[in-house]
Amino acid sequence: TKDGGGAGFHIYEPQLHLQAEERRVLEMALRKALQNDEMHLQYQPVVDSETGGLTGFEALLRWTHPEFGVVPPDKFVPLAEEARLIAPIGEWVLRTACDEAARWPPDVRVAVNVSAEQLHNPHFVTTVAQALSQSELPPERLELEVTESVFLHEGTCATTVLERLLDLGVRLSLDDFGTGYSSLAYLSRTRFSTIKIDRTFVQGASKGKQEAIAIIRAVVALAQSLGMATTAEGVETTEEHEMIQDLGCTKVQGYYFGRPLPVEEARALACRPFDN
Ligand code: C2E
Ligand code: CA
Ligand code: CA
Ligand code: CA
Repeated sequence: TKDGGGAGFHIYEPQLHLQAEERRVLEMALRKALQNDEMHLQYQPVVDSETGGLTGFEALLRWTHPEFGVVPPDKFVPLAEEARLIAPIGEWVLRTACDEAARWPPDVRVAVNVSAEQLHNPHFVTTVAQALSQSELPPERLELEVTESVFLHEGTCATTVLERLLDLGVRLSLDDFGTGYSSLAYLSRTRFSTIKIDRTFVQGASKGKQEAIAIIRAVVALAQSLGMATTAEGVETTEEHEMIQDLGCTKVQGYYFGRPLPVEEARALACRPFDN
């Protein structure tokens, strides 16, 4: 039964035997999403924890289907990865984000999420190089966010692709740190600029969970000793911001500083930096 509300995607009741059908329907729609102009990017501010100044934006992909409504990225990105659609979609994201960031002041960066599947493909380095040259965005203003899962895939050399991306002059950040199969080995192997601390730790710490506080403390110390910055994700309140500041995170991102914004609003904010 179709959900009459329009918001979200609830074509079927969540019964196991129907999930395959829902996936099939979504996948077919996803194949046409780009050409039908159903995708757009929103940009969430990333802020210097000490000064409150804007350091950049993270580009976040949005899909609005004419019938299903808004489909959240947590739902369609994994599907795009499995259906081998993430390469063309990811390429569109990269070009769109670089074109937009080229219009911002030179001290404002853009961060783009990259799936492990994209890094499998050695052509990805060319895609990034082309997006940079066509937009004339200086490479150091592009930050590629990868998760720990890129290091899990066997038989492909994600590390080599990451090295070639670093050779282009772009920055790398390690996203969702602590939620995956963390290994410290690749932190010493790959030159990340920033470690992004997942929102679950920020939330835990603000609720007084000693384990979460200990983990943030340890990650900040580790990052500092490796010359990397830290971004706390999902900061929603003053209390969370103060705690994160005390723990020494260099950058913050979250609803407290700004939700993901439509392109025009992000541009206005980029061109009129924070007052404080
Ligand atoms: P992510 O990379 O960890 O992105 C951060 C997510 O946290 C975003 O969800 C953002 O809207 C949300 N968020 C930011 N601040 C707060 C906060 O204060 N509170 C709460 N509750 N949430 C906050 P979003 O936009 O739904 O994206 C979900 C995930 O989808 C992303 O997680 C990323 O893994 C993936 N994704 C989004 N865009 C792309 C893309 O262009 N390419 C790829 N490969 N993945 C993408
Ligand atoms: Ca991210
Ligand atoms: Ca994240
Ligand atoms: Ca996440």
